[in-house]
Amino acid sequence: MQKKRIVVLGGGIAGMEFVTRLSSLLKSEQYELMLIDKSEYHIWKPMLHTFAAGSAKPNEQGINFLTQAKRDGYIFNPGNVSKIDLKQRKITLDALYDKTNKEILPERNIEFDYLVISMGSKTNDFNTKGVKEYAYPIDDLDHALDFYNDLRNFIIQAAILKEKHHVVIVGAGATGVELSGEIIYQLKQSSQYVGYDFTDYLHLTVVQSGDQILPTFEKEIGNAVKVTMNKIGINTLLSARVKEVTKDHVYLENGAVIPADQVAWTTGIKGDNLLQEIDGVEYSKRSQIVVNPRLQVIGFPYVFAMGDCSSVQDNSLPPTSQVATQQAYYLSRNFLKLIQDPASVNPFDYKDYGSLVSVGRYQSFGVFGHHIAIRGWVAKIAHLYLYRSHQIRILGLRRAISAILADKFRKLSI
Ligand SMILES: Cc1cc2nc3c(=O)[nH]c(=O)nc-3n(C[C@H](O)[C@H](O)[C@H](O)COP(=O)(O)OP(=O)(O)OC[C@H]3O[C@@H](n4cnc5c(N)ncnc54)[C@H](O)[C@@H]3O)c2cc1C
Repeated sequence: MQKKRIVVLGGGIAGMEFVTRLSSLLKSEQYELMLIDKSEYHIWKPMLHTFAAGSAKPNEQGINFLTQAKRDGYIFNPGNVSKIDLKQRKITLDALYDKTNKEILPERNIEFDYLVISMGSKTNDFNTKGVKEYAYPIDDLDHALDFYNDLRNFIIQAAILKEKHHVVIVGAGATGVELSGEIIYQLKQSSQYVGYDFTDYLHLTVVQSGDQILPTFEKEIGNAVKVTMNKIGINTLLSARVKEVTKDHVYLENGAVIPADQVAWTTGIKGDNLLQEIDGVEYSKRSQIVVNPRLQVIGFPYVFAMGDCSSVQDNSLPPTSQVATQQAYYLSRNFLKLIQDPASVNPFDYKDYGSLVSVGRYQSFGVFGHHIAIRGWVAKIAHLYLYRSHQIRILGLRRAISAILADKFRKLSI
């Protein structure tokens, strides 16, 4: 019997949790499960700012896709998805090159019987002039590492030349706040091993168009976070909309000009441009793929989309790890029924367990409903728990404990 091929595009939070669970439920003589990702490592994206600040390393905190696929019994196919044809049931992967530009794999077409799209989102630059050319979007591992490599070089240069390195982070949502705090924390840590306090040579500004830090949280939290940010040396500029980014400045609509050697752009998300080119698909205002309440792409019952790249029809959900995790659980648990008899499956039902936010390692809040429910070390532990429980789901308990211990020993050995 010809095996049916299930192809999953994107091994982020949703895609990785989905393939890990589904591979344990599928009969391998009937189905072939294939995961495609452009990266070599799976990472927990809420940790992306720690890669950008240099406190996490992909070969230490990332999970290698090839190893993971071998262990769980699915196929990993590396490559950047460049075209999706739902009608012909075919996707195209770009040719793959090494660092010297030598071709490792040619452009490939891959056919599928069922497709799951979980390719995440991109930073929304709102077509602001100069962002594409001069700002770092912190939305994947490569961008985060590019930002860090430049930050490290510039800050060493600034310390030796006794100059200031000017960093501007545009957007004071969770990503901007967490990134700014982590940069200060990591530079303080690094300073313990050299003769400089690197933070003396950093001028870090977070710019926000609205009048509140963390605009999706209660004002009380935004104010408390602002106080902490200012206390640890981060400048905050509110009601300041960026008009243009150039090689060395950020221009605001109110006429102000801020020196900027490095700009990180973290203002909200939108669907990937590639996903907007799929013929026959309906899109949300944020350019995400619209799915029905069973996560099927409208008009294509054999195609599913979940996580940040999707939007449930008439019930748009926030782009968070919580939504991605719950959708992956729902889809993997019900997948075989959904491809045979969707009406027999209850629609996806999202449960909001609240949000957590941290300013680096300096301050954390947990919000449930509209109120601060936890703060301080309890919130920090809750934040860490989300990551560790994801690790346990992906690696299994024994390997996750080894990974956690390895993290602890690495810290002790520095
Ligand atoms: C810095 C930061 C901090 C965050 N903090 C929090 C938080 O504290 N709490 C919270 O709930 N959420 C947080 N989020 C949001 C959360 O990370 C996302 O909502 C979540 O990762 C979405 O999961 P996903 O599986 O849809 O996408 P992702 O986890 O982004 O995975 C997408 C995957 O698709 C792959 N991919 C993309 N394009 C292609 C392509 N063309 N070809 C092949 N592969 C491709 C990527 O390599 C990636 O592996 C944060 C996000 C960021 C950036």
